[in-house]
Amino acid sequence: MITFRGGIHPPEFKELAEEKPIEVMPCPKQVVIPLSQHTGAPAKPVVAVGDEVKAGTLIAEPVGMISAAVHSSIAGKVKGIEPWVHPVLPVPTKAVIIEAAETDELDPAIKPRTQAQIEKLSPEEIREIVRDAGIVGLGGAAFPTSVKITPPKDAAIDTLIINGAECEPFLTADDRLMREKPEGIINGARILAKVLGLERAFIAIEHNKPEAIRIVSEAASKVWPAAEVLTVRTKYPQGAEKQLISAILGREVPAGGLPFMVGVVVQNAGTAFAVYESVAKRKPLYERVVTVTGPGIAEPKNLLVRIGTLAADVISHCGGLTPSASKFISGGPMMGIAQASLEVPIIKGTSGLLFLDGSKRLFKISEEVNCLRCGHCVGICPMKLVPAEIARMAEYEKLEDAERWGIADCMECGSCAFVCPSGRRLVQWIKYGKMLIFAERSRKKERK
Ligand code: SF4
Ligand code: SF4
Repeated sequence: MITFRGGIHPPEFKELAEEKPIEVMPCPKQVVIPLSQHTGAPAKPVVAVGDEVKAGTLIAEPVGMISAAVHSSIAGKVKGIEPWVHPVLPVPTKAVIIEAAETDELDPAIKPRTQAQIEKLSPEEIREIVRDAGIVGLGGAAFPTSVKITPPKDAAIDTLIINGAECEPFLTADDRLMREKPEGIINGARILAKVLGLERAFIAIEHNKPEAIRIVSEAASKVWPAAEVLTVRTKYPQGAEKQLISAILGREVPAGGLPFMVGVVVQNAGTAFAVYESVAKRKPLYERVVTVTGPGIAEPKNLLVRIGTLAADVISHCGGLTPSASKFISGGPMMGIAQASLEVPIIKGTSGLLFLDGSKRLFKISEEVNCLRCGHCVGICPMKLVPAEIARMAEYEKLEDAERWGIADCMECGSCAFVCPSGRRLVQWIKYGKMLIFAERSRKKERK
Protein backbone atom coordinates (compact mmCIF):
# COMPACT_ATOMS: atom_id res chain seq x y z
CA MET A 1 0.00 0.00 0.00
CA ILE A 2 1.11 3.56 -0.74
CA THR A 3 3.21 5.05 2.04
CA PHE A 4 6.39 6.96 2.93
CA ARG A 5 9.58 6.01 4.72
CA GLY A 6 9.51 6.23 8.51
CA GLY A 7 6.52 7.26 10.61
CA ILE A 8 4.71 5.66 13.52
CA HIS A 9 1.45 3.93 14.43
CA PRO A 10 0.01 5.67 17.50
CA PRO A 11 -3.35 4.45 18.87
CA GLU A 12 -6.04 6.10 16.74
CA PHE A 13 -8.88 6.74 19.20
CA LYS A 14 -11.09 7.81 16.30
CA GLU A 15 -13.99 5.64 17.50
CA LEU A 16 -15.07 8.40 19.91
CA ALA A 17 -16.32 10.65 17.11
CA GLU A 18 -16.06 8.95 13.72
CA GLU A 19 -19.70 7.85 13.63
CA LYS A 20 -21.02 11.23 14.79
CA PRO A 21 -22.53 13.07 11.78
CA ILE A 22 -21.65 16.73 11.41
CA GLU A 23 -24.02 18.77 13.57
CA VAL A 24 -24.58 22.50 13.10
CA MET A 25 -23.81 24.33 16.33
CA PRO A 26 -26.30 27.17 16.97
CA CYS A 27 -24.88 30.70 16.77
CA PRO A 28 -23.24 31.77 20.03
CA LYS A 29 -24.21 35.04 21.73
CA GLN A 30 -20.78 36.47 21.00
CA VAL A 31 -17.83 35.64 18.77
CA VAL A 32 -14.19 36.73 19.11
CA ILE A 33 -12.53 36.73 15.70
CA PRO A 34 -8.73 37.15 15.72
CA LEU A 35 -7.17 39.26 12.98
CA SER A 36 -4.31 36.78 12.84
CA GLN A 37 -5.53 33.27 12.09
CA HIS A 38 -3.29 32.49 9.15
CA THR A 39 0.34 32.33 8.14
CA GLY A 40 1.50 35.87 7.31
CA ALA A 41 0.59 39.41 8.30
CA PRO A 42 -2.50 39.97 10.49
CA ALA A 43 -5.47 41.38 8.58
CA LYS A 44 -6.39 45.08 9.00
CA PRO A 45 -9.85 45.86 10.43
CA VAL A 46 -12.30 47.60 8.11
CA VAL A 47 -15.03 47.90 10.77
CA ALA A 48 -15.25 50.05 13.88
CA VAL A 49 -16.90 49.58 17.26
CA GLY A 50 -20.66 49.99 16.87
CA ASP A 51 -20.79 48.83 13.22
CA GLU A 52 -23.47 46.33 12.31
CA VAL A 53 -22.44 43.26 10.35
CA LYS A 54 -24.03 40.14 8.89
CA ALA A 55 -22.61 36.62 8.70
CA GLY A 56 -20.08 36.80 5.88
CA THR A 57 -19.43 40.57 5.99
CA LEU A 58 -15.77 41.49 5.49
CA ILE A 59 -14.37 42.78 8.79
CA ALA A 60 -10.64 42.84 8.03
CA GLU A 61 -8.68 42.93 4.79
CA PRO A 62 -5.41 41.21 3.96
CA VAL A 63 -2.20 43.18 4.36
CA GLY A 64 0.46 42.41 1.75
CA MET A 65 1.06 39.25 -0.26
CA ILE A 66 0.85 36.66 2.50
CA SER A 67 -2.23 37.44 4.55
CA ALA A 68 -5.93 36.60 4.51
CA ALA A 69 -9.25 38.43 4.65
CA VAL A 70 -11.40 37.89 7.75
CA HIS A 71 -15.22 37.91 7.80
CA SER A 72 -17.83 38.14 10.49
CA SER A 73 -19.25 34.73 11.32
CA ILE A 74 -22.55 35.99 12.76
CA ALA A 75 -24.96 38.89 12.35
CA GLY A 76 -24.51 41.43 15.10
CA LYS A 77 -22.73 44.55 16.33
CA VAL A 78 -18.99 45.10 16.75
CA LYS A 79 -18.48 45.45 20.48
CA GLY A 80 -14.73 45.84 20.56
CA ILE A 81 -11.43 45.38 18.74
CA GLU A 82 -8.97 44.36 21.38
CA PRO A 83 -6.37 41.77 22.43
CA TRP A 84 -7.75 38.34 23.28
CA VAL A 85 -6.19 35.00 24.17
CA HIS A 86 -5.19 33.07 21.02
CA PRO A 87 -5.11 29.27 20.54
CA VAL A 88 -1.81 29.26 18.64
CA LEU A 89 0.09 32.43 19.50
CA PRO A 90 1.68 32.78 22.94
CA VAL A 91 0.36 36.28 23.63
CA PRO A 92 -3.09 37.85 23.30
CA THR A 93 -3.64 39.27 19.81
CA LYS A 94 -6.13 41.74 18.40
CA ALA A 95 -9.56 40.33 17.72
CA VAL A 96 -12.92 41.71 16.60
CA ILE A 97 -15.58 41.00 19.21
CA ILE A 98 -19.10 40.78 17.83
CA GLU A 99 -22.28 40.56 19.86
CA ALA A 100 -25.02 38.53 18.15
CA ALA A 101 -28.19 40.18 16.82
CA GLU A 102 -31.61 38.68 17.55
CA THR A 103 -31.68 36.95 14.17
CA ASP A 104 -28.75 35.57 12.26
CA GLU A 105 -28.70 37.02 8.75
CA LEU A 106 -26.33 36.34 5.90
CA ASP A 107 -24.53 39.11 4.06
CA PRO A 108 -26.60 39.85 0.89
CA ALA A 109 -23.51 39.26 -1.28
CA ILE A 110 -23.74 35.53 -0.48
CA LYS A 111 -25.80 34.07 -3.31
CA PRO A 112 -25.17 31.11 -5.58
CA ARG A 113 -23.55 31.24 -9.01
CA THR A 114 -25.10 29.20 -11.81
CA GLN A 115 -23.09 26.34 -13.31
CA ALA A 116 -22.67 28.42 -16.49
CA GLN A 117 -21.27 31.34 -14.47
CA ILE A 118 -18.88 29.01 -12.64
CA GLU A 119 -17.59 27.51 -15.87
CA LYS A 120 -16.93 30.94 -17.37
CA LEU A 121 -14.62 31.99 -14.52
CA SER A 122 -10.97 32.34 -15.50
CA PRO A 123 -8.17 30.98 -13.26
CA GLU A 124 -7.33 34.57 -12.29
CA GLU A 125 -10.94 35.31 -11.31
CA ILE A 126 -11.05 32.13 -9.20
CA ARG A 127 -7.83 33.09 -7.39
CA GLU A 128 -9.39 36.46 -6.61
CA ILE A 129 -12.60 34.82 -5.31
CA VAL A 130 -10.55 32.49 -3.08
CA ARG A 131 -8.48 35.41 -1.78
CA ASP A 132 -11.54 37.57 -1.11
CA ALA A 133 -13.21 34.66 0.70
CA GLY A 134 -10.29 34.53 3.17
CA ILE A 135 -9.62 30.84 2.51
CA VAL A 136 -6.59 29.32 4.18
CA GLY A 137 -5.36 25.74 4.54
CA LEU A 138 -7.79 24.05 6.92
CA GLY A 139 -5.49 21.15 7.77
CA GLY A 140 -3.86 23.28 10.45
CA ALA A 141 -1.13 25.32 8.73
CA ALA A 142 -3.61 28.04 7.69
CA PHE A 143 -1.46 29.17 4.77
CA PRO A 144 -3.44 31.50 2.45
CA THR A 145 -4.86 29.29 -0.32
CA SER A 146 -4.81 31.98 -3.02
CA VAL A 147 -1.02 32.20 -2.59
CA LYS A 148 -0.61 28.43 -2.71
CA ILE A 149 -2.52 28.20 -5.97
CA THR A 150 -0.35 30.92 -7.51
CA PRO A 151 2.96 29.08 -7.82
CA PRO A 152 5.96 30.86 -9.39
CA LYS A 153 5.68 31.12 -13.19
CA ASP A 154 8.61 28.76 -13.76
CA ALA A 155 7.18 26.02 -11.50
CA ALA A 156 5.92 23.22 -13.74
CA ILE A 157 2.96 22.00 -11.68
CA ASP A 158 1.75 18.61 -12.92
CA THR A 159 -0.08 17.17 -9.87
CA LEU A 160 -2.80 18.28 -7.48
CA ILE A 161 -3.27 16.18 -4.35
CA ILE A 162 -6.35 16.62 -2.16
CA ASN A 163 -5.26 15.57 1.30
CA GLY A 164 -7.88 13.48 3.09
CA ALA A 165 -5.36 11.53 5.16
CA GLU A 166 -6.31 13.04 8.53
CA CYS A 167 -3.56 11.09 10.29
CA GLU A 168 -3.77 12.79 13.71
CA PRO A 169 -5.28 10.45 16.32
CA PHE A 170 -8.77 11.38 17.61
CA LEU A 171 -9.64 13.80 14.74
CA THR A 172 -12.51 12.89 12.42
CA ALA A 173 -13.65 16.23 10.91
CA ASP A 174 -12.23 15.54 7.42
CA ASP A 175 -13.50 11.95 7.51
CA ARG A 176 -17.04 13.17 8.20
CA LEU A 177 -16.82 15.95 5.60
CA MET A 178 -15.67 13.45 2.95
CA ARG A 179 -18.53 11.11 3.86
CA GLU A 180 -21.17 13.84 3.99
CA LYS A 181 -20.09 16.36 1.34
CA PRO A 182 -18.11 14.38 -1.23
CA GLU A 183 -19.50 16.25 -4.25
CA GLY A 184 -18.41 19.61 -2.79
CA ILE A 185 -14.88 18.31 -2.23
CA ILE A 186 -14.65 16.86 -5.73
CA ASN A 187 -16.02 20.03 -7.30
CA GLY A 188 -13.49 21.99 -5.21
CA ALA A 189 -10.75 19.74 -6.58
CA ARG A 190 -11.98 20.37 -10.11
CA ILE A 191 -11.92 24.15 -9.54
CA LEU A 192 -8.40 23.98 -8.06
CA ALA A 193 -7.22 21.83 -10.98
CA LYS A 194 -8.59 24.39 -13.42
CA VAL A 195 -6.68 27.19 -11.68
CA LEU A 196 -3.47 25.14 -11.91
CA GLY A 197 -4.05 24.17 -15.55
CA LEU A 198 -4.45 20.47 -14.69
CA GLU A 199 -6.87 17.90 -16.03
CA ARG A 200 -7.01 15.60 -13.02
CA ALA A 201 -6.39 15.31 -9.27
CA PHE A 202 -5.61 12.66 -6.67
CA ILE A 203 -7.65 12.43 -3.49
CA ALA A 204 -5.54 10.65 -0.85
CA ILE A 205 -7.38 8.95 2.02
CA GLU A 206 -5.88 6.73 4.74
CA HIS A 207 -7.08 3.12 4.74
CA ASN A 208 -8.66 3.48 8.20
CA LYS A 209 -11.51 5.45 6.53
CA PRO A 210 -13.13 2.81 4.30
CA GLU A 211 -16.50 4.60 4.19
CA ALA A 212 -14.89 7.85 3.04
CA ILE A 213 -12.92 5.94 0.37
CA ARG A 214 -16.08 4.27 -0.89
CA ILE A 215 -18.29 7.39 -0.82
CA VAL A 216 -15.73 9.75 -2.37
CA SER A 217 -14.89 7.18 -5.09
CA GLU A 218 -18.57 6.79 -5.97
CA ALA A 219 -19.12 10.54 -6.04
CA ALA A 220 -16.00 11.09 -8.17
CA SER A 221 -17.24 8.63 -10.77
CA LYS A 222 -20.43 10.70 -11.12
CA VAL A 223 -19.17 14.27 -10.64
CA TRP A 224 -15.64 14.29 -12.09
CA PRO A 225 -14.08 10.95 -12.98
CA ALA A 226 -10.69 12.64 -13.41
CA ALA A 227 -10.48 12.71 -9.59
CA GLU A 228 -8.75 9.49 -8.59
CA VAL A 229 -9.08 8.28 -5.01
CA LEU A 230 -5.84 6.78 -3.69
CA THR A 231 -5.82 4.68 -0.53
CA VAL A 232 -2.72 5.45 1.53
CA ARG A 233 -1.49 3.45 4.49
CA THR A 234 -2.67 4.59 7.90
CA LYS A 235 0.49 5.93 9.44
CA TYR A 236 1.46 9.12 11.19
CA PRO A 237 2.33 11.72 9.74
CA GLN A 238 0.88 10.52 6.42
CA GLY A 239 -1.03 13.80 6.08
CA ALA A 240 2.12 15.95 6.12
CA GLU A 241 2.57 17.40 2.63
CA LYS A 242 6.09 16.18 2.01
CA GLN A 243 5.26 12.66 3.20
CA LEU A 244 2.13 12.53 1.05
CA ILE A 245 4.09 13.59 -2.04
CA SER A 246 6.80 11.05 -1.32
CA ALA A 247 4.21 8.30 -0.79
CA ILE A 248 2.17 9.01 -3.92
CA LEU A 249 4.75 10.22 -6.43
CA GLY A 250 8.07 9.11 -4.99
CA ARG A 251 9.27 12.72 -5.26
CA GLU A 252 11.30 14.26 -2.44
CA VAL A 253 10.74 17.94 -1.65
CA PRO A 254 14.25 19.35 -1.08
CA ALA A 255 15.32 20.32 2.46
CA GLY A 256 13.82 23.70 3.29
CA GLY A 257 11.80 23.56 0.04
CA LEU A 258 8.13 23.65 -0.88
CA PRO A 259 5.92 21.21 -2.83
CA PHE A 260 5.78 23.42 -5.96
CA MET A 261 9.52 22.73 -6.40
CA VAL A 262 8.64 19.15 -7.32
CA GLY A 263 5.60 20.14 -9.39
CA VAL A 264 2.93 19.51 -6.76
CA VAL A 265 0.19 21.46 -4.99
CA VAL A 266 -1.42 19.82 -1.94
CA GLN A 267 -4.73 21.06 -0.53
CA ASN A 268 -6.62 19.68 2.43
CA ALA A 269 -10.06 18.14 1.75
CA GLY A 270 -11.76 20.79 3.91
CA THR A 271 -9.96 23.52 1.98
CA ALA A 272 -11.18 22.06 -1.33
CA PHE A 273 -14.70 22.18 0.07
CA ALA A 274 -14.28 25.81 1.19
CA VAL A 275 -13.00 26.70 -2.30
CA TYR A 276 -16.08 25.09 -3.82
CA GLU A 277 -18.38 27.06 -1.49
CA SER A 278 -16.59 30.34 -2.22
CA VAL A 279 -16.97 29.83 -5.96
CA ALA A 280 -20.40 28.18 -6.13
CA LYS A 281 -22.12 30.12 -3.32
CA ARG A 282 -19.96 33.26 -2.96
CA LYS A 283 -19.51 32.13 0.65
CA PRO A 284 -16.51 33.41 2.61
CA LEU A 285 -14.79 31.18 5.15
CA TYR A 286 -16.69 31.99 8.34
CA GLU A 287 -17.40 28.50 9.67
CA ARG A 288 -15.67 25.12 9.68
CA VAL A 289 -16.05 21.54 10.88
CA VAL A 290 -14.34 20.88 14.21
CA THR A 291 -14.00 17.53 16.01
CA VAL A 292 -14.73 17.92 19.71
CA THR A 293 -13.47 14.75 21.32
CA GLY A 294 -11.50 12.92 23.97
CA PRO A 295 -12.38 11.20 27.23
CA GLY A 296 -12.67 14.60 28.93
CA ILE A 297 -15.78 15.77 27.04
CA ALA A 298 -19.24 14.41 27.84
CA GLU A 299 -20.55 14.14 24.25
CA PRO A 300 -17.91 13.97 21.52
CA LYS A 301 -19.17 15.51 18.28
CA ASN A 302 -18.21 16.75 14.84
CA LEU A 303 -19.55 20.28 14.76
CA LEU A 304 -19.97 22.93 12.11
CA VAL A 305 -18.87 25.92 14.18
CA ARG A 306 -18.80 29.66 13.44
CA ILE A 307 -15.25 31.05 13.51
CA GLY A 308 -14.73 33.02 16.72
CA THR A 309 -16.94 30.76 18.88
CA LEU A 310 -15.28 30.33 22.25
CA ALA A 311 -14.17 26.88 23.37
CA ALA A 312 -16.29 27.35 26.51
CA ASP A 313 -19.45 27.64 24.36
CA VAL A 314 -18.48 24.56 22.36
CA ILE A 315 -17.92 22.64 25.61
CA SER A 316 -21.41 23.58 26.89
CA HIS A 317 -22.94 22.46 23.60
CA CYS A 318 -21.16 19.10 24.02
CA GLY A 319 -22.57 18.43 27.49
CA GLY A 320 -19.66 19.90 29.45
CA LEU A 321 -16.38 18.44 30.62
CA THR A 322 -16.22 15.13 32.48
CA PRO A 323 -15.12 15.37 36.14
CA SER A 324 -11.77 13.79 35.25
CA ALA A 325 -10.92 16.16 32.36
CA SER A 326 -7.44 17.49 32.94
CA LYS A 327 -5.97 18.73 29.67
CA PHE A 328 -7.29 20.77 26.73
CA ILE A 329 -5.52 20.71 23.36
CA SER A 330 -6.44 22.74 20.29
CA GLY A 331 -5.85 20.31 17.40
CA GLY A 332 -4.75 16.70 17.63
CA PRO A 333 -2.57 15.12 20.31
CA MET A 334 0.59 14.97 18.17
CA MET A 335 0.82 18.49 16.77
CA GLY A 336 -1.91 20.33 18.65
CA ILE A 337 -1.26 23.02 21.24
CA ALA A 338 -2.13 22.68 24.93
CA GLN A 339 -4.41 25.49 26.08
CA ALA A 340 -4.50 27.34 29.35
CA SER A 341 -7.91 28.98 28.89
CA LEU A 342 -11.38 27.88 27.82
CA GLU A 343 -11.93 31.39 26.42
CA VAL A 344 -9.85 30.68 23.29
CA PRO A 345 -11.80 31.11 20.05
CA ILE A 346 -12.17 28.60 17.21
CA ILE A 347 -10.06 29.92 14.34
CA LYS A 348 -9.84 28.88 10.68
CA GLY A 349 -7.08 26.37 11.43
CA THR A 350 -8.85 24.68 14.36
CA SER A 351 -9.44 21.10 13.28
CA GLY A 352 -10.27 19.78 16.73
CA LEU A 353 -10.73 20.46 20.42
CA LEU A 354 -9.34 17.55 22.40
CA PHE A 355 -10.06 17.00 26.08
CA LEU A 356 -7.92 14.41 27.86
CA ASP A 357 -8.18 12.95 31.32
CA GLY A 358 -5.14 10.73 31.73
CA SER A 359 -6.75 7.66 30.13
CA LYS A 360 -6.27 6.99 26.39
CA ARG A 361 -2.63 7.98 26.57
CA LEU A 362 -0.51 8.13 23.44
CA PHE A 363 2.81 8.46 25.23
CA LYS A 364 4.22 6.49 28.11
CA ILE A 365 5.09 9.18 30.62
CA SER A 366 8.50 8.37 32.00
CA GLU A 367 11.40 10.12 33.62
CA GLU A 368 13.81 11.53 31.03
CA VAL A 369 17.05 9.52 31.10
CA ASN A 370 20.16 9.43 28.96
CA CYS A 371 19.90 8.45 25.32
CA LEU A 372 20.45 4.71 24.85
CA ARG A 373 21.68 5.18 21.30
CA CYS A 374 19.09 2.65 20.18
CA GLY A 375 18.48 4.53 16.92
CA HIS A 376 14.68 4.12 16.98
CA CYS A 377 14.14 7.85 16.51
CA VAL A 378 16.38 7.85 13.43
CA GLY A 379 14.56 4.94 11.85
CA ILE A 380 11.13 6.54 12.09
CA CYS A 381 11.88 10.24 11.45
CA PRO A 382 9.83 11.04 8.33
CA MET A 383 12.22 13.88 7.49
CA LYS A 384 15.21 11.54 7.58
CA LEU A 385 16.82 13.50 10.40
CA VAL A 386 18.82 12.25 13.39
CA PRO A 387 16.58 13.52 16.20
CA ALA A 388 18.81 12.23 19.03
CA GLU A 389 21.79 14.24 17.80
CA ILE A 390 19.85 17.38 16.88
CA ALA A 391 18.11 17.42 20.27
CA ARG A 392 21.46 16.95 22.06
CA MET A 393 22.99 19.83 20.08
CA ALA A 394 20.01 22.03 20.94
CA GLU A 395 20.24 21.07 24.62
CA TYR A 396 23.92 22.06 24.75
CA GLU A 397 23.22 25.12 22.56
CA LYS A 398 25.52 23.99 19.75
CA LEU A 399 23.35 25.88 17.35
CA GLU A 400 25.56 25.90 14.28
CA ASP A 401 25.88 22.12 14.51
CA ALA A 402 22.12 21.77 14.94
CA GLU A 403 21.57 23.87 11.83
CA ARG A 404 24.05 21.77 9.86
CA TRP A 405 22.15 18.65 10.95
CA GLY A 406 18.89 20.08 9.61
CA ILE A 407 17.02 21.34 12.71
CA ALA A 408 15.02 23.70 10.47
CA ASP A 409 13.59 20.72 8.54
CA CYS A 410 12.06 19.20 11.66
CA MET A 411 8.28 19.59 11.35
CA GLU A 412 7.79 18.85 15.06
CA CYS A 413 5.59 15.85 14.32
CA GLY A 414 6.49 14.19 17.62
CA SER A 415 7.17 10.75 16.10
CA CYS A 416 10.68 10.57 17.57
CA ALA A 417 9.47 11.31 21.10
CA PHE A 418 6.71 8.73 20.65
CA VAL A 419 9.20 5.89 20.09
CA CYS A 420 11.98 7.01 22.45
CA PRO A 421 12.46 4.45 25.27
CA SER A 422 14.45 7.00 27.29
CA GLY A 423 11.60 9.49 27.50
CA ARG A 424 13.84 12.10 25.88
CA ARG A 425 11.96 15.36 25.38
CA LEU A 426 13.21 15.43 21.80
CA VAL A 427 10.64 17.82 20.34
CA GLN A 428 10.94 20.22 23.26
CA TRP A 429 14.72 20.36 22.82
CA ILE A 430 14.36 20.85 19.08
CA LYS A 431 11.83 23.65 19.61
CA TYR A 432 14.22 25.18 22.15
CA GLY A 433 17.06 25.04 19.61
CA LYS A 434 14.92 26.65 16.92
CA MET A 435 13.91 29.40 19.32
CA LEU A 436 17.57 30.17 20.19
CA ILE A 437 18.50 30.23 16.50
CA PHE A 438 15.61 32.58 15.74
CA ALA A 439 16.57 34.87 18.64
CA GLU A 440 20.21 34.92 17.51
CA ARG A 441 19.18 35.82 13.95
CA SER A 442 16.95 38.65 15.22
CA ARG A 443 19.83 40.00 17.34
CA LYS A 444 22.13 39.95 14.31
CA LYS A 445 19.53 41.78 12.21
CA GLU A 446 19.12 44.47 14.89
CA ARG A 447 22.90 44.98 15.07
CA LYS A 448 23.06 45.61 11.28
S1 SF4 B 1 12.97 15.10 14.39
FE1 SF4 B 1 11.22 16.34 13.92
S2 SF4 B 1 10.44 15.56 11.98
FE2 SF4 B 1 11.81 13.97 12.84
S3 SF4 B 1 10.45 12.64 14.03
FE3 SF4 B 1 11.23 14.17 15.47
S4 SF4 B 1 9.67 15.77 15.47
FE4 SF4 B 1 9.30 14.51 13.62
S1 SF4 C 1 15.02 6.87 20.44
FE1 SF4 C 1 15.66 7.94 22.32
S2 SF4 C 1 17.15 6.57 23.24
FE2 SF4 C 1 16.90 5.87 21.13
S3 SF4 C 1 18.51 6.97 19.98
FE3 SF4 C 1 16.68 8.22 19.86
S4 SF4 C 1 16.89 9.66 21.58
FE4 SF4 C 1 18.30 7.98 21.97
